Amino acid sequence: MKALLVIFDGLGDRPVKQLGYKTPLQVAEKPNLDKLSVTGIKGIMDTIAPGVRPGSAPAHLAIFGYDPYKYYTGRGIFEALGMGLDIREGDVVFRFNFATVDEEMRVVDRRAGRIKRYTEDLAEALNTIEIPGVELIFKEAVEHRGVLVLRGEGLSWKVSDVDPGKTGFKVKMCKPLDGSLEALRTAEIVNKVVAESYRVLKDHWVNKDRISRGLPPANIILPRGASISTKVKGFKERYKLRAYCVAGGTLYKGVAKFVGMEVLNVPGATGTYGTDYDAKVHAAVRALKDGDFVYLHFKPTDLAGEDGDFRRKVDIIQRIDKALEPILSLEDTLVVITADHSTPCSIKTHSADPVPIMICGEEVRRDGVKGFDEISAARGGLGRIRGLHLMPILLDLMNLTEKYGA
Ligand code: ZN
Repeated sequence: MKALLVIFDGLGDRPVKQLGYKTPLQVAEKPNLDKLSVTGIKGIMDTIAPGVRPGSAPAHLAIFGYDPYKYYTGRGIFEALGMGLDIREGDVVFRFNFATVDEEMRVVDRRAGRIKRYTEDLAEALNTIEIPGVELIFKEAVEHRGVLVLRGEGLSWKVSDVDPGKTGFKVKMCKPLDGSLEALRTAEIVNKVVAESYRVLKDHWVNKDRISRGLPPANIILPRGASISTKVKGFKERYKLRAYCVAGGTLYKGVAKFVGMEVLNVPGATGTYGTDYDAKVHAAVRALKDGDFVYLHFKPTDLAGEDGDFRRKVDIIQRIDKALEPILSLEDTLVVITADHSTPCSIKTHSADPVPIMICGEEVRRDGVKGFDEISAARGGLGRIRGLHLMPILLDLMNLTEKYGA
C-alpha cells in the first residue's frame, strides 16, 4: 500500500456572503474530488491545535508527523533547504531583505523598490565579507529576498530582528534573546554583518546603476527570523517510507527536504497562479511507481485567499480538481486530500478554522458522506483530528503500525 498526500494550501475558508454564505470549496464544481469522496472517510483537522493560526511550515511539519513545537524554530532553514543550499546541523539561518537606507541608517525602503534583477551580483559581493570565527553564506531568493547562513561553533538562533518594520526608522541592533554567551556572540556577528553589508553594497555597480535610473539602491541587508538546523529522523528512517515531494514553492520543498523527502524538479511547477497543475499531478503519479509516499502541494488556493479573491479561489479549486483526474485510477494507494490551514478570503490571512480532510482507498471505511468541503467533511467518520494524528492514521491504514501491548 502506498500513499499520496495532496495539500491545497490555505484551502479552508469561511462562508462568503456573495457566495450565498457558502465557502469557495462548497461552491466549486469538483467532479473528481466528488468521485473520490465516495471511497473514503472524511473529517476536519486542526493542523496544529484548535485556535492556533498555523504558519505553513509548522502546519506541514505537524501533518508529516513532526511536532512543530519541537522542530520549528523559524522559516529560514526551510527556505534555505528549498533553495538547494547545503544546510548542516547547527547552522543558524536568517531570511533577509535587500533594503534601502540613508546615510544615517534610516530605512527608506524595506524592499529596495522590490528589486528584481542582479541580486545574484549583490549576493556575490556580500559573500566577500569576512568575520573571524564564522562562515557566512549569502544567497539571493525571489525579488528583494535572500537567506543568510551562519556556520560555526557557539551560535544561537535566540536573537532579535534588525528590521524596524517601518520606513523612517533606524535599523535596529540585533540583541540576544536569552542570557547565553552564544546568543550574545551571534547578535554581535549579525550587527557586524549588517554594517559590512552596507559597506560592500553602497557603491556596488548595481546600485550606482539603480540610483542613476531613479530607483532605490539595495544598499543593506536586514536579517530576520533566525532559525537553527537540527537533525531529525527522516521519513525513511522513521516510517520506512521512501518519500517524494512535488511542490513549486521553496518553503514547501524545504520542509519536505527537512523530513527526508526527495524533492522532484518538475518543469513548470512554480508555486504561483501560473503553475503547471497537470505536470505536477503527472510527476506525482510517476513518483508513486518508485516511492511509497508522495506529497503533492498546490499553492494558488492560498494566494487567492490572501488576495481576498473568492471567485479566483473557486476557479483554482476547479482547475486543480480537473488536473487530479489521473489519481482516480491509482491502485493500492491511499489518497489524502487536505490543507495546511485555512486562508479565508474575508480576512486575507491564515485562520485557525479546521481544514477539511478525506482519506480515500479501497480498504478505507466509507462513511457515506459525499462530496468534499468544510461542512460535509465535518459530518464524516474521521471526526476532528489534529495534524500530528494524520501520519499514525495513515501508517495504520497502510498496515505499517505495530500492535501496542499484548
Ligand atoms: Zn500554507
